Amino acid sequence: MKKKHVIPVAVLSSALLMGTVSPAQTLAVSPNANTEVVQKKVHSEGKGKPFFVKQMQSEKQKSADGKNAKEFLNKNKAKFKMDKPEESLESTKVTKDELGMTHVKLQQKKNNIPVEGNEVTVHYSSDNRVQSVSGQFNEAIEKEGLPSKASLSASESIKLAKKAVEAPDQLVESPDSELVYYSFQGENHLAYKVNVNFLGDSPGNWSVYVDANSGEVIDQYNKIMHAQDYKSSKGSGIGVLGDQLQLHITHKNDKSVRPGTNFYLFDNSHEDLEGIYTYDMKNQWGESDLQFPGVLFSSPNASFKDSYDRPAVDAHYNSEEVYDYYLEEHDRNSIDGEGMAIKSSVHFGEDYNNAFWNGEQMTYGDGDGEFFVPLSAGLDVAAHEMTHGVTTYSAGLKYRFQSGALNEAFSDIFGALVDEEDWEIGEDIMAEDARESGRTSLRSLSNPSKYAVGSKYTEYGDGNGKYPSHMDEYYDLPKDLDNGGVHINSSIINHAAYLTGEQIGKDKLGQIYYRALTVYLTPDSDFSHARESLIQSAVDLYGENSAEAQATEDGLNQVGITE
Ligand SMILES: [Zn+2]
Repeated sequence: MKKKHVIPVAVLSSALLMGTVSPAQTLAVSPNANTEVVQKKVHSEGKGKPFFVKQMQSEKQKSADGKNAKEFLNKNKAKFKMDKPEESLESTKVTKDELGMTHVKLQQKKNNIPVEGNEVTVHYSSDNRVQSVSGQFNEAIEKEGLPSKASLSASESIKLAKKAVEAPDQLVESPDSELVYYSFQGENHLAYKVNVNFLGDSPGNWSVYVDANSGEVIDQYNKIMHAQDYKSSKGSGIGVLGDQLQLHITHKNDKSVRPGTNFYLFDNSHEDLEGIYTYDMKNQWGESDLQFPGVLFSSPNASFKDSYDRPAVDAHYNSEEVYDYYLEEHDRNSIDGEGMAIKSSVHFGEDYNNAFWNGEQMTYGDGDGEFFVPLSAGLDVAAHEMTHGVTTYSAGLKYRFQSGALNEAFSDIFGALVDEEDWEIGEDIMAEDARESGRTSLRSLSNPSKYAVGSKYTEYGDGNGKYPSHMDEYYDLPKDLDNGGVHINSSIINHAAYLTGEQIGKDKLGQIYYRALTVYLTPDSDFSHARESLIQSAVDLYGENSAEAQATEDGLNQVGITE
C-alpha cells in the first residue's frame, strides 16, 4: 500500500506541475508521484466579484481624491452594483505613480466597520479624469442585515484567539483586536480580527478571526517568523549542477544544533528585508516528526559543499537572485512588497518530483533522479514559486480555472524573465533519463505544443494531447483535474507573452506584465480581463499607439484572446 501524503498548506498551494500524474507518460512514475496537493479555502473566498471598468471618460475633476472618487462612484453606482457608495466606502490611500496617474484606494465599510479584503481603486489619468475603476466590492454584505454590535468583548476575543493558536503567556506585544466584517466559505460574519505575536519554540505572528457573537474561531493563519542573534557572514557552496556559489549566511553558537559555532543558510544582509531563510525538511513530509518549514539549514563551517547541501545552496542562492530581480526591475521589496521573509524548504519528502508555494514559502523536492534532479537547481523554478507569492500579495488570482491558469502563467513568464537565457521552464532540473527521451524542459513558452499533457487530459482538449498555444486548443477541464487546467491552459497566456516579448524584448515585457499583475488583475480575473489589463498597462507605460501596446495586443490576438 502506498501511503498517501497530504501536503499541509497554509493558505493556497500552487505546485509547479499537475499533482497527480507523472508529467511524461513514457517515464516511470515515482512511488510518490501521487502526492496530492490539497486545496484549502482561499482567504479571499466570498469576496465580491472583481471588476475592471475602463474608458469611463469622466468629466475632468478638480482633483483626484477620495471625495471626488466617491462622488464619481455614486453617479455611476448602478454600473458598479453599489447601493450607497458614499456611505459604504472610505478613502484609505491616494498614490501618484511615475506616469502621473493617481490611484485612489477606498475600503468598503458597513456600520463604519471595514469589510475585510474588499476595496475599490479609482484610477485617474494625469489630467484628473477617471480612466478606470477596479477592485472588489461585496454587494451581499452591503445589503445583508448583519449585526453591528458584538456581544463578545475584545478581550474575550483575544482569549479565544490565543487558545486557538496555543500562544504562550509571554507575548511579543499585547494582541490587537479589531472588528471587521469577514466573509469566509460563503458566510458573512461580524468578527474580531486578532493579531497574536509570540516567540519561543514555534514562534508565530497570527491573524485569527473570531465571530464577534458566537465566539467561534472562523479562520486563522500565521504570517511571519523572526530570527535574532544571528551574525552576518560570507559563505560559499556548490550547487546541484556543480556551480561554485557565493552565499550570504549567518552564524551563531547554538549547542542544540552542534557544539561550537554553527553557520546557517539565513541571509540577513539586506536592509529592509526580514531575511532569506533556507530550511531542511530532512526528507520528511511535514506530517508528524518534522513540521514546516523544517530546521534552518546549517553547517559546522561556512562552506556548504556536501552533496546533501547542494539543493539547499541553490535554493538559497536563487532566492536572492529572484529577490534582486524584483527589487531592481520593479522596485518591489520582496514577495509582499514590504520586505517579508523569503523562505524555502528543501529535501521535502522522498524522491518528490515537484515544487510548490504553500501560501507562505517555497518547497522543493529532491526529484526521483530519473525525471528530475533536485528542483531548486532551476533559477526559473525559484522565480516561478516566488512569483506565486507575489501574485498572492497583489492580484490574488484564485487557483482554479482561468484565474488559476493566469496565476500559473505569470509564474512561468516571470520564471522566463528572471532566468532570461531562453523561453523554457525547468531546463536545468531535467534528469538524464528525461533528457535522453527528448524531455529537455518542463514547459516551453515559445513552443508549448512540443510536449504532451498526459493522456488523462487529452479528451478535454482538441484531441491532440499537447499543451495548447491557442484558444482553439483550450482544455475544458473539470475542477478535479489540475484545478480546471491551471498548468495546461496557462500555456496559452505563456505563448502570448512570448510572442509579445519577441517583439519588444524581455525588459519591457516584464514591465507590462508586472503592472497588470499588481495594478489591474483581481482574484477572479479571466483571460478576457487579463487582455484588458495587459493592454491598459502597456498603454499606461508606453502610450496609446505605441509599438509596445500594439505588440501586447498582437501577442494576445495571435493566441486567440481577441476580446
Ligand atoms: Zn506553479
